[in-house]
Amino acid sequence: MAESVLVAGGAGYIGSHAAKLLAQRGFHPVVVDNLERGHRWAARWGTFVEADLADREAVRAVLLEHRIRAVMHFAAYAYVAESVRDPGPYYRNNVATTLALLETMKEVESEFFIFSSTCATYGEPERVPIPEDHPQRPINPYGRTKLVVEQMLADFEAAYGLRHVNLRYFNAAGADPDGEIGEAHDPETHLIPLVLEVALGTRPHIAVFGTDYPTPDGTCVRDYIHVTDLAEAHVLALEHLLSGGQSRAYNLGNGTGYSVRQVIDEARKVTGREIPVLEARRRWGDPAVLVGSSDRIRSELGWTPRYPGLDTILETAWNWHRNGPPG
Ligand code: UDP
Repeated sequence: MAESVLVAGGAGYIGSHAAKLLAQRGFHPVVVDNLERGHRWAARWGTFVEADLADREAVRAVLLEHRIRAVMHFAAYAYVAESVRDPGPYYRNNVATTLALLETMKEVESEFFIFSSTCATYGEPERVPIPEDHPQRPINPYGRTKLVVEQMLADFEAAYGLRHVNLRYFNAAGADPDGEIGEAHDPETHLIPLVLEVALGTRPHIAVFGTDYPTPDGTCVRDYIHVTDLAEAHVLALEHLLSGGQSRAYNLGNGTGYSVRQVIDEARKVTGREIPVLEARRRWGDPAVLVGSSDRIRSELGWTPRYPGLDTILETAWNWHRNGPPG
């Protein structure tokens, strides 16, 4: 019988890509999502349960019914600016609800946890590319909520033996190469989907947040990683834990940085459309450069990104944005 894996937040952007890959690799994804920020159309693989993760009884029932040993936890709020403006819901959703999930897992003796962490736990980098042992000093509430969970996981392992993998994403981007699912946030705040909306003509221009950073062209440099490559890392982390591997933290990035202007230029090439730019002030909480070293997961789990090029990332996203979500 296929191993059932609980995909918390599996109707969201990254979770839905992980659910698809899990199904392709012979696992049975059990998606639990309250559809607050996820989409019913994105939960296409395995079993879908509409429930809130804060509902301990519902989660307990799913864990027991499907004999869940492993949980992938994607459900979180993930906007830096929003977390600064209104941190309460971030601590409630990202920390308190995750705690409830972990306690319920402990009650039913579910064993493995794969956590969507973030490069935002590092804060302002002391060196790039950032390795996993870089100090973690987040500079915004979003990053702090993710770091608290990493610390909670270390304590849960020491006390109860729950094993985990923390996957620290750099900038998730792109869409399913088959075009079945993709990014659909509301409101959208991420650079690549916004740039593509400008290319489509549904927005007049893209605001470039800060042109006076200490970078070659003055705009922020980020490490964009294809969402299907993120999904692949989750499956490898799952197999690692199921085969007796130890708790680990892994960065997930391509190790190459692109500036905001470079992303816009590449999007002009990929789409063949005009993309007007408006130079704007810096966005609060944005470090100048975030580029990760993913050497650890490459050497320990054999992860190799299949879609490392910014052109491919943009092409898959463009394909998705042009066609739009189903319905
Ligand atoms: N950015 C921008 N204009 C936008 C949205 C984002 O210049 O309308 C910049 C942002 O300042 C950052 C980079 O693009 O340097 C990536 O931002 P995004 O919100 O996509 O991801 P984040 O780095 O916040 O996870």
